Amino acid sequence: MAVIWDELEKVQPIAATLLRNSIKRDRIAHAYLFEGSRGTGKRDAGLLFAKTLFCLNISIEGIPCEQCSNCIRINHGTHPDVHIVEPDGLSIKKEQIKQLQQEFTKTAVESKRKLYMIVHADKMSVSAANSLLKFLEEPNAETTAILLTEQIQQILPTILSRCQVVSFKPYPVTLLQEKLLENGVSAHVSLLLAHLTQNVEEALSLYQDEWFAQARKLVLKLYESLKKSSSYAMVMLQEDWFQHFKEKQQMDLGLDLLLFIYKDLLSVQLGKEDTLFYPDQQSHFYTDTLSLSPRSLAEKITIILEAKRKLSANMNPQLLMEQLVLNLQGGSAFV
Ligand SMILES: [Zn+2]
Repeated sequence: MAVIWDELEKVQPIAATLLRNSIKRDRIAHAYLFEGSRGTGKRDAGLLFAKTLFCLNISIEGIPCEQCSNCIRINHGTHPDVHIVEPDGLSIKKEQIKQLQQEFTKTAVESKRKLYMIVHADKMSVSAANSLLKFLEEPNAETTAILLTEQIQQILPTILSRCQVVSFKPYPVTLLQEKLLENGVSAHVSLLLAHLTQNVEEALSLYQDEWFAQARKLVLKLYESLKKSSSYAMVMLQEDWFQHFKEKQQMDLGLDLLLFIYKDLLSVQLGKEDTLFYPDQQSHFYTDTLSLSPRSLAEKITIILEAKRKLSANMNPQLLMEQLVLNLQGGSAFV
């Protein structure tokens, strides 16, 4: 699924404008560094940029045709003058950069122009980074480098100073939710997935994962058992919770799912029912809020956030969940 400029302008207006203008005004930098978290569309933007430079039937507005042999080969990763370097295992090795340089010292196969993209540029070994640096220090007018990273702080300052930095912002949640709905995600989990992942691919894979559907059920079950008594909730933890939320990352997701229930209760109380994470639970939550004060809800939210913090500090998960249950039950709990 190739991204188009209109789409990029919608989700990354600053990056899109900057890149389009640099082509329009013929002021293409020798090296760009696309930085931003996972799923922000850096790679797609890099390919779009390449197609805009190489397309044989570029429109007056500067939109690549997606049909000519250059567009097609860039989409397939087979264009001889467009190279993509990705980590080989855990890192990008010096040999990979050397190989790239060798390719680039030959004249471009089909035109004078060449472009290379280094994915996860922060994963370059020190010697790879130094080789690249030499390359960047001898810029060729017709060669463009695009470095991609999720961790700009890991990029060597000497490399950073030779790149024009283009920042990619996290995908706006409402747009992400729209995209998920377009891709067949059920309305009752779309907002939840958008918030949990901030990334289309990850949200879709979580949606198709039976583990996630079960996790959502179990979190609602824990919430229900908390309404009964702490001993009910303790039994639930032993019988269901710990079997399902085994890894730390899974536990963290479980806590997020629980947190969103209490945020929903607060939204219902404030009359903001149109932005619920669990829209299918609305009437149910409405009944529950009748016996809850906004203050006690805010306290419960704080308790869950505190549990998330303890989890990241490696507290024993068993102890952490038992403490959480007791804390959520304490004070002005359900009556
Ligand atoms: Zn084309």
